[in-house]
Amino acid sequence: MTKKFDAQLIAQCGINCGTCVGFFGYTMSGKKRKHACVGCRTRASLCAFIKKKCKRLANKETLEFCFECSDFPCELMERIEKTYTQRYGLSLIGNLNYIKEKGMDAFLEYEKERWTCPTCGGVICVHTKRCYNCSPP
Ligand code: SF4
Ligand code: SF4
Ligand SMILES: [Zn+2]
Repeated sequence: MTKKFDAQLIAQCGINCGTCVGFFGYTMSGKKRKHACVGCRTRASLCAFIKKKCKRLANKETLEFCFECSDFPCELMERIEKTYTQRYGLSLIGNLNYIKEKGMDAFLEYEKERWTCPTCGGVICVHTKRCYNCSPP
């Protein structure tokens, strides 16, 4: 079983899929999806966000994270970074640099501190800042 904060849920672009609205099984407007997303690394098709647009990630080359790429941070990464910092107050490049500098275990601890719901111990969504465990739409 996947843990709440799991390395398998940290995507190549630096997002923690375990905090994604799709992973909780909802849309941004609060509708229930037919299927919840299982996360970038385990799903068969490509994520709507970055993998679809990057050939290197789409071809499943041996990149574990975007920071290993010679073009990092590429134009696409810069674009998604801008959207994420402005819209969600989250820096994906910051996440990636954290992983690069301090390692995955430290990053997962950091994620736990950032996203654990103070009310129920569930996980808060980065996109909606909602806990779908104790406060579903
Ligand atoms: S939609 Fe994309 S970011 Fe969200 S959980 Fe799925 S793969 Fe991860
Ligand atoms: S840094 Fe850009 S080009 Fe490199 S793998 Fe990531 S998305 Fe693709
Ligand atoms: Zn909660």
